[in-house]
Amino acid sequence: RDTYIEKQFGRLNEMQRKAVFTTNGPLLILAGAGSGKTTVLVNRIANLIRFGSAHGSGWTPREVTEDDVKALRMAIMTGTDAPAWLDGMLRKDAVRSWNVMAITFTNKAAGELKERLRNMLGGEEGDEVFASTFHSACVRILRRWAEQIGYPRSFTIYDTDDAQRVMKTVYKELSIDDKFFPVKSAINQMSRWKDQLVSPEEALRTPARDTKGAIAAKVYAAYEKKLKDAGAFDFDDLIYHTVQLLAEHDEVREFYQNKYRYLLVDEYQDTSVAQFRLVSLLTGPEKNICVVGDDDQSIYRFRGATIENILNFERIYPGTKTIRLEQNYRSTSNILNAANCVIQHNTERKGKTLWTKNGEGDKVHVYTAENEQDEAMHIADVIGQHLKAGGHLADHAVLYRMNAQSAPIESYFTRAGIPHKIVGGQRFNDRKEVKDIHSYMSIVANPRDDVRLRRIINEPARKIGNTTIEVIADLAAQENTSMLEIISHADQYARLSRSMMPLLKFWQIYERLQESLETRTLDEFASDVIELTGYKAMLEQEVAKGHEDAADRMQNLGQLVNNVKNYCDQHGEDATLEGYLEDIALISDIDSYNESADRVVLMTIHSAKGLEFPYVFLIGMEEGVFPSEMSKYSEADLEEERRLAYVGITRAKQELYISDSVTRMLYGRTQRNEPSRFLREIEPEYMEETRSPALERRSQMGGWGSSYSDTVPGGASGYSGASGWGRSRTGGYGSGYSSGYLNSEYNGGSRGFGSEYA
Ligand code: ATP
Ligand code: MG
Repeated sequence: RDTYIEKQFGRLNEMQRKAVFTTNGPLLILAGAGSGKTTVLVNRIANLIRFGSAHGSGWTPREVTEDDVKALRMAIMTGTDAPAWLDGMLRKDAVRSWNVMAITFTNKAAGELKERLRNMLGGEEGDEVFASTFHSACVRILRRWAEQIGYPRSFTIYDTDDAQRVMKTVYKELSIDDKFFPVKSAINQMSRWKDQLVSPEEALRTPARDTKGAIAAKVYAAYEKKLKDAGAFDFDDLIYHTVQLLAEHDEVREFYQNKYRYLLVDEYQDTSVAQFRLVSLLTGPEKNICVVGDDDQSIYRFRGATIENILNFERIYPGTKTIRLEQNYRSTSNILNAANCVIQHNTERKGKTLWTKNGEGDKVHVYTAENEQDEAMHIADVIGQHLKAGGHLADHAVLYRMNAQSAPIESYFTRAGIPHKIVGGQRFNDRKEVKDIHSYMSIVANPRDDVRLRRIINEPARKIGNTTIEVIADLAAQENTSMLEIISHADQYARLSRSMMPLLKFWQIYERLQESLETRTLDEFASDVIELTGYKAMLEQEVAKGHEDAADRMQNLGQLVNNVKNYCDQHGEDATLEGYLEDIALISDIDSYNESADRVVLMTIHSAKGLEFPYVFLIGMEEGVFPSEMSKYSEADLEEERRLAYVGITRAKQELYISDSVTRMLYGRTQRNEPSRFLREIEPEYMEETRSPALERRSQMGGWGSSYSDTVPGGASGYSGASGWGRSRTGGYGSGYSSGYLNSEYNGGSRGFGSEYA
């Protein structure tokens, strides 16, 4: 295995190896896309664990021979010094796998990292490395110490839906009008504050800019109180409160600093102020902190990420070694050059140019479509050609700026029978029935969770109305306890006498669920929840009544039980209800993307960060779409959009297809957009442009005027081929291949795929 690792190291270039063998002290790896940053991170961990921090300081590992083993036996028996090779491992600079914490951006990335470590180090050691997202890391810390900051260890994690429910209650209580200041805006503002580590008290103290700011500060405080009473954290809280915990409790901070002696953070350019603070609190006195990032790929500024974190790293950690990687291993030189062209137009950057030994490859294919349907058809055509030549669906990714852009592609792919998967569509766990059952499970885990209780107390309907619910909430507030506690002795309250029976019944259900959790396996418990709560009976009735989607919902609940079972299989003895609920709370959109299935993947560029695909389609490259309309008015926003374009382009390994469309229907409005400035920033020598045959036909017919206008009523097209942006057009693309190949092979359907071309 050691030789295997050595071979891996051997693959690395000199700078990469230098990064891997720089084991101690603060290390900043600042490098462009596809230069092997994540690869270095993995190898660096493998090196630390296998060869300790001594490796790189002159000591080289080698294969262990028979003689070595003999020498070792001898040393143990005689109590003499250990052989030198072993010494390297046994010295106090040896790093154990549980001394390492690696933080990545998605659970998927964390999983991949572990997988690669397992391959390099073997099962046990690979598994022991703590690799997770910021959020999972915080959950793990809070599960152990939450009581120190006044939360139960069995806290619940609220998603955006829960957060909105809480906020709506706060609005009601404070008589704030949602129309004046939408709940969502308040939540956004609050989220920014938490990212910046601004406490509710500080928000209240700071003079507000306007009435809305004042409202935001007021609801922030009230919201936080509600969550604390419910024993719940929202997503931003997980980080915010972990920072508070570590900052205020020396013993907790020291515990982690001793435990995790080596800290590594991938995609460091996208950390927020709070995340940055978290990292620095976890970093022990040895300052073994290694961060990996690319200032050109910072794309979460809108979420509070600050590029200063990367630019200031060297200042904050004196003695930082900085390593720059410039060789790209991912893309062909045409793709890479196109990416370099675009990003060069940004002024706020450290500046670096990537190069590659990979061949030139195809030029970047640029296609101008007539409309979004045409764009979808073109993509399907190209994929079809690749498949015919023996390619795989999963090697193709369609990337876009906004989720809404996926709709036309999705519907075209569905009609054409192209298997595909949208990352970030409605998630399984967001479906109503699934959330309901999870809410039941949550309140068994955490009886203080009033928000989830409200969600299901009358679901299925059991005659507990809103008035009753408010009375319960009122009583709970008076007695400073949870709503469930009030329900448990509902018969003692005159105000509840009218709905006493349904409430006591509900309490009985709750007790039976508690019992089920104690006596049965977790997946049996999940089935019990569906059954005992009357949920199953309700769905069965609906099916009988002919409600079509009720059968789907039944199936989803079946799937839910399967998921619980899978969770149990994965975690064995360690499976707990809290653990399961935590898993589903932390699954992000990108994590639901399953690579093993052979399908085209559709996702936003944001979700594609860190990933790579042989063939990438970057769609909607138009002014007003990408860059977005909003961003055009601020130089900083524009630069962020440009970084996003850079991320998109650099996902491609072999071929990149960029498309823009003359007209586009988006959010129910047809727009005419000019090609994106990012497209124009690419030197023509790296591109090969084609226009839709439909556009060509039109221009041959004499064109209908050549000026662009912002909106075309009814979507009529009025684009003249001659008015483009003046570069060569190869034309004729598409006319050569006829319809139906996809249908015959993949669909068997009757639709004439691409028949417009024939
Ligand atoms: P991003 O900025 O997109 O996150 P990255 O810098 O993390 O990219 P990696 O994902 O680590 O880059 O590597 C990109 C590709 O190059 C991967 O397919 C990886 O296996 C390959 N690669 C990295 N280093 C080498 C190397 N020395 N030799 C060959 N291939 C390499
Ligand atoms: Mg990476």
